[in-house]
Formats: sequence, structure tokens, C-alpha cells
Amino acid sequence: MSIVTLKDKQFKPYIKSEQIEAAVKKVAQQINADLKNEMPLFVAVLNGSFMFAADLMKQIEIPCEISFVKMASYHGTESTGKVNELIGLNQNIEGRTVVVIEDIVDTGNTIEKLTSMLKDKKVKSFKIATALFKPSVYKKDIKIDYVGIEIPNDFVVGYGLDYDGLGRNLKDILVIA
Ligand code: 5GP
Repeated sequence: MSIVTLKDKQFKPYIKSEQIEAAVKKVAQQINADLKNEMPLFVAVLNGSFMFAADLMKQIEIPCEISFVKMASYHGTESTGKVNELIGLNQNIEGRTVVVIEDIVDTGNTIEKLTSMLKDKKVKSFKIATALFKPSVYKKDIKIDYVGIEIPNDFVVGYGLDYDGLGRNLKDILVIA
């Protein structure tokens, strides 16, 4: 694949789909082994994780469920300040083992908010699975249990990740040129 133009920016090939496929398989094998007695609930964070979630779930061989959520944040009343909300999780998850599926973990802000909401819902335990991880930017103490591929602090698109809404459909991962 050559240079791809998305709006005003150009992106060059970075990680080929074959390498992503192998990374997804590795993550699935770890989850299959670790959680074989848990009947986990996978919680995929939209929009970015849709492709990773689909590929990962095809490799999961233990009994499990999946739900898709969106994170929304809005300003509440003056006294409450900024409120974070989890949209789409309509079932009771108390006591469940939850595996969060993310496209990429960067600063970890998203994961921090999400896991605090999961704790409020009294889950038994949670694990984090992410297709991509930027260890040099990550600032939180929360363990990232399953990492597909570690990358440096570069802006990437493809495999679910977008630039201004574009590029989510690309099967390879590209980096800003
Ligand atoms: P965090 O909250 O960990 O800083 O960032 C997570 C979110 O930021 C991801 O779900 C994704 O939407 C966005 N993000 C972080 N790094 C990248 C990147 O390199 N490319 C794209 N397209 N989005 C990114």
C-alpha cells in the first residue's frame, strides 16, 4: 500500500494486516488461557475498536458475551462539573469478569474513566485488551493486560482508527507521513 491522503494529511504504510492478525491471535490465546473459567463479558469501546473487537472475538474459544459501549462526557450542573457516562451497557454487570476492548491506549485517560465506571458497577474484575499501546505516553497505574502491538508516540490511522472520521476502514495501520 502506498501513500494515502485523508483530508489535508498524508499517511504512509506502518503495520501490515498480516502483522496485526498475528498480534490479535496472540492476544486471543492469552485470553483463552487466562479466562477459561470466567465466562467473561467483553466490552468493546466504539467507534475505534470495532475492527479489533470483531477479529479478536473470532479467535475467542471460551464461553463469553460481548457488548458495545460509547463513552460520552458532558457538563452537568455547576456542582457536579464534568460527568462521564457509559452509553449502551444495558445489562447488570455486577460480579462479572469484564474485558475492555480498546483500539489504542495513549495517555490512558479513557481507560481510567471507563474502569472507574466499571468499579462503580461492582464488577468482579476487569482486564484491558488493546490493539495498540503507546508506552512512552501512558501515565496511569492501571495495568494494560493484553497488548497487540506497542508503538512509539506517532499518530496512526486504519484498523478502526480515524483521522477526522476518515481511515477507519483501512485494513493496514498507517502513520502520518
Ligand atoms: P487516551 O485516552 O488513552 O489518551 O486515548 C485514547 C483515544 O485517543 C483512542 O481511543 C483514540 O480515539 C485516540 N487516539 C490516541 N492515539 C491515537 C492515534 O495515534 N491515532 C488515532 N487515530 N487516534 C488516537
